[in-house]
Amino acid sequence: MTQTNPLMNLKKRGLLQSGVLMTAGAVMGCATSSTANNAPATPFSVPNTYVPIAGSSEMFPVRRIYCIGRNYAAHAIEMGSDPTREPPFFFQKPTDAIQLVLPGKVVNHTYPSLTKNYHYEVELVAALHKGGRNIPMDKALELVYGYALGLDMTRRDLQRGMGDQKKPWEIGKSFDQSAPIGPIHKVAQTGHFGQANTQGNIWLKVNGQVKQQATLSHMIWSVAEQISKLSDAFELFPGDIIYSGTPENVGPVVKGDVIDCHIDGLPDLSIRIV
Ligand code: MN
Repeated sequence: MTQTNPLMNLKKRGLLQSGVLMTAGAVMGCATSSTANNAPATPFSVPNTYVPIAGSSEMFPVRRIYCIGRNYAAHAIEMGSDPTREPPFFFQKPTDAIQLVLPGKVVNHTYPSLTKNYHYEVELVAALHKGGRNIPMDKALELVYGYALGLDMTRRDLQRGMGDQKKPWEIGKSFDQSAPIGPIHKVAQTGHFGQANTQGNIWLKVNGQVKQQATLSHMIWSVAEQISKLSDAFELFPGDIIYSGTPENVGPVVKGDVIDCHIDGLPDLSIRIV
């Protein structure tokens, strides 16, 4: 891979060079070195994935990326399902699908291979600092460390093609750079999204034209319900993040398009398809 990937997938080596990880290591003191001493010898290194925490020198380490499907009624209908009867369902993306998009930047996003129908899905992302199994609804939000704005980029033709064959969605959903994300904002700074007073706007524009527009109150399953249901299927751990689903009017982009995303209370996120 000769392609440079500045800041988009925050790799440990890059962080060391930039000094960001050293700052975090200094905060953690000897915990970092003792972890390093216990690590087995390896023939090569594998990068970890981190997302910046707004207003902090610390980074959020990503363990797993969960995504919820069809969580806005109008989007469920456009995808051919009945939003009144289907329980939430989940899929995962690999952590190195993260593409970091810093506020105020328009980050280049490579049009992926194999697809001829590449779609945007703007989504609220919840980031967990606690885990557990079978989390009750009234305890679920205690797991949330913060929130971010994200894109669940989708090779729609491949997703649909695999679905039609009753095969996994992997190739349509879980490819390189398929999870652009902005910095994580602590709950202490933003409150919990989707509550009575935080059911703000979520929208996405392509080349300045509004394509997706809804409010977080349109989510079928709240963040607390998503966490509770997810924890029935998987043991959750600190570092897990959850893409909360997208509103209706998903659609395609082509090379040269600029996507701008917004959720009230978070900085906008922008990428250019190249
Ligand atoms: Mn999605």
